[in-house]
Amino acid sequence: MRAVQNAPAGEPTKPHETPPLTRHTPQQESQVSSIFSRDYASELPTAVRGEGVYLYDADGKAYLDGMGSAGVVGIGHGRTEIYQALAAAGDKVPFAYSAQFTTPWQEEFGKSILSVAPKGIESVYFVSGGSEANETALKLARQYHLERGDTQRQKIISRWQSYHGVTIATLSLSGRTSWRAPYTPYMLPVIHIAPPYEYRCAYCKDKGGCTLDCADELERAINLEGPETVSAFFAETIVGTTASGLVPRPDYYKRIREICDRYGILFVADEVLAGYGRTGRPFAIQDWDVVPDMITCGKAIGSGYAPLGAVLINDKITNFFRESRKRFVHGFTYSGHPTSCFIGQQVFNIMSKEGLFTRAAEIGKHLHARLNALQQRHACIGEVRGRGLYGGVEFVADRATRAPFPAEMNFTSRLVSGMKERGVIIGGGVPGANFGQGGDHIQITPPFIVSEAEIDILVDALDDTIGAIA
Ligand code: PLP
Repeated sequence: MRAVQNAPAGEPTKPHETPPLTRHTPQQESQVSSIFSRDYASELPTAVRGEGVYLYDADGKAYLDGMGSAGVVGIGHGRTEIYQALAAAGDKVPFAYSAQFTTPWQEEFGKSILSVAPKGIESVYFVSGGSEANETALKLARQYHLERGDTQRQKIISRWQSYHGVTIATLSLSGRTSWRAPYTPYMLPVIHIAPPYEYRCAYCKDKGGCTLDCADELERAINLEGPETVSAFFAETIVGTTASGLVPRPDYYKRIREICDRYGILFVADEVLAGYGRTGRPFAIQDWDVVPDMITCGKAIGSGYAPLGAVLINDKITNFFRESRKRFVHGFTYSGHPTSCFIGQQVFNIMSKEGLFTRAAEIGKHLHARLNALQQRHACIGEVRGRGLYGGVEFVADRATRAPFPAEMNFTSRLVSGMKERGVIIGGGVPGANFGQGGDHIQITPPFIVSEAEIDILVDALDDTIGAIA
């Protein structure tokens, strides 16, 4: 992998070339290619240790991980018992190629994760992360229709203001316009409909609340495209990074399920961020009492101790492949990786033993009470949203008109870096991702073990930082 390389001193840069990166200091000159995705405007600390909800850098500074490291670390940092269990398992954890072997670790964790999934979900396909899970679901949907002779079904519908991953197919699913923009020529022709964004919904703006027109847009899109050509509808159960915690109305997914069923279209719920305890249920969709055809997972299922993702698949699709003996023409080298599955099982054991699949429902009340109280103190807080330990806050220049701050104010990035200076990590959403309409927003997704006192530290720092900026 190539790391950042500066042009040799004195060598002129040709006009069409990207100028050399010169802003990083020697301390930042890492050879690790993942630093490409970082923000060069600030220095990047080196994380050397984690414990509970805290991360520590090389200088010994503590950071309260209010973002749960991108919503990943559910069980908390520094759970060394996981690696002790791995060491004790010794050579009982072989690597075996999943197209040729299954392993006890894959089977055991498969049973475990299915035991907390909605009834009707029958099988699981393990991968290494969320993008892989969504990519897999997209292909499985297509092959399911093909094998049944429904060969025209190839179109995918998803929503604007959404994020499903960074690969070309999953970025095509995503409605995060600023991240798609550089790759527009490569995007697949995915059809996007309106997100359930009540605070800024063009449909229900003058109607006194949600009318579910955003859900009905799915039916209009299906009919416009030709129902016989549509394969699947993808949606984040709770919209994450692109809008920070949009929770649709209680009847939204029932309507979506009905529409999908009416036209034979598969419904895929992306729970990479919202699932596995974040909302106070094993899977967020359980609050809507709807069973999707597939649920995609990642992040918290490995809790950062191993790269792990999964596609949970319903009985209809599972039984079709089982009974027809059709083979799903797909597979990553690391699909069903035994060590990752073993670690997934240890995470599952801790989650079960410590009640972490449901704890967010209770502790999240404290987070939301504190955020709602903060809204009373700061006129720039337009909306507090989310569920459980998924807290979203949207900021506005004017609460009455909901006008966002001007982009050049860089409100979100100043807030996120101000919090980091105060030793608290939160996630910054993308301003203007909804066709330039949405405002600044942040997301708070701490580990599920967070205490009320730690939530207080986080919200107090937020109070202080907002005060300093606004
Ligand atoms: N889906 C959602 C809802 C996500 O939030 C993410 C990552 O943030 C992904 C998919 C992609 O997951 P990964 O980064 O593990 O590929």
